[in-house]
Amino acid sequence: MSYIDKVLEELIAKNPAQPEFIQAATEVLNSLKPVIERNPQFEKESLLERIVEPERQLMFRVPWVDDNGKVQVNRGFRVQFNSAIGPYKGGLRLHPSVNLGIIKFLGFEQIFKNSLTGLPIGGGKGGSDFDPKGKSDREIMAFCQSFMTELCKYIGKDTDVPAGDIGVGGREIGYLYGQYKRITGLYEGVLTGKGLTYGGSLARTQATGYGLVYLVNAMLGAAGKSLKGQTVVISGSGNVAIYAAEKAQQSGAKVVTMSDSNGWIYDANGIDIAAVQEIKEVKRGRIKDYLNYHADAKYTEGKGVWSVKCDVALPCATQNELNLDDAKTLIANGCYAVGEGANMPSTLEAIDAFLDAKVLFAPAKAANAGGVATSALEMSQNSMRLSWTFEEVDAKLKGIMENIYAEMSEAAKEYGLENNFVAGANIAGFLKVAEAMMAQGIV
Ligand code: GLU
Repeated sequence: MSYIDKVLEELIAKNPAQPEFIQAATEVLNSLKPVIERNPQFEKESLLERIVEPERQLMFRVPWVDDNGKVQVNRGFRVQFNSAIGPYKGGLRLHPSVNLGIIKFLGFEQIFKNSLTGLPIGGGKGGSDFDPKGKSDREIMAFCQSFMTELCKYIGKDTDVPAGDIGVGGREIGYLYGQYKRITGLYEGVLTGKGLTYGGSLARTQATGYGLVYLVNAMLGAAGKSLKGQTVVISGSGNVAIYAAEKAQQSGAKVVTMSDSNGWIYDANGIDIAAVQEIKEVKRGRIKDYLNYHADAKYTEGKGVWSVKCDVALPCATQNELNLDDAKTLIANGCYAVGEGANMPSTLEAIDAFLDAKVLFAPAKAANAGGVATSALEMSQNSMRLSWTFEEVDAKLKGIMENIYAEMSEAAKEYGLENNFVAGANIAGFLKVAEAMMAQGIV
């Protein structure tokens, strides 16, 4: 049995209830075959066994009082996965689907994504099974304060710097930051995605979506194509989806769909982003409300954006939202490029189908790294106690995304896997972390 197969077999045996983590690890490890062959010292020093085991996993009780005076209890998580190249860095997800396996898959992805940014950040992730949907501001605050009361013991500007993810935006980061400062007395860059009045960075809100389109532009450019005049299908309507849609439109594309967990909209005239922003960011409503702005658009309950004919697909909702059947439909409809804005939105089978069909496929770790990259820029600004302009941050973000494209395509080429950016991103992200771990001894 090969070294990689052996590590995967042990991983599956040890983590039986963590299918998403096993999926993420399987994708990464299988693409490292040529690297392991070239570097036998990695097996000798059990590097893969070490890299799939988090340095530390925290699980804690989060009690809070709801608006009816009832005590609610949620489960909090922080997985500090790998600190070889910098302090743990990664978001907090608040969603009822959150469990240890989900946080581990996200933390594992984060190691390689953060490495690809070229910035000094390790991998971590956290969150809770708390469901923010339908909660009042006061309930959100009560939860965030209780969550941080425990989490603050384990984080800090040079140890672990959480941020947002699904269910955590500016409002939640504000409540978390206020509680951290109150308990520790430290005014430091312990969280990113902060508001602009208390240490946040310009362009952080837009960064994941804009970065996704910068990377897709680089990928299409290298293939002699561009987004100009192309039809783009986007899933999701959160922060990533909204700013991906905005930048895609600025690049000359027509974005025709967006979705949420209830259903999806199709607007043949191109999505009105200002309307989606008002529905989602101001009113915290449902995507169905888009019909109040554009009665000629179409709303359908359930899943379905991948059935729409398009040139480019940008899954920006959540993990495993695009399966083999969806991939087949997209390919049959002529879709020739996919950029993953969400974390692990495509199943392993869907990825294989895209690669077999020679679809230009930009995997999440590369394509959505703009968010965490800009978080690292926020950390730099906090350390320097100054703020860069929107244009400065945006220009740095664009440079980082173009560099990620170059790194993943060069790594793919070097290992004879031209245009397989899944392998390219995994290899490039892995090598930096692996070299740092080897240099630091048995840790
Ligand atoms: N949650 C985002 C991600 O998946 C951003 C993390 C961060 O800014 O630390 O990369």
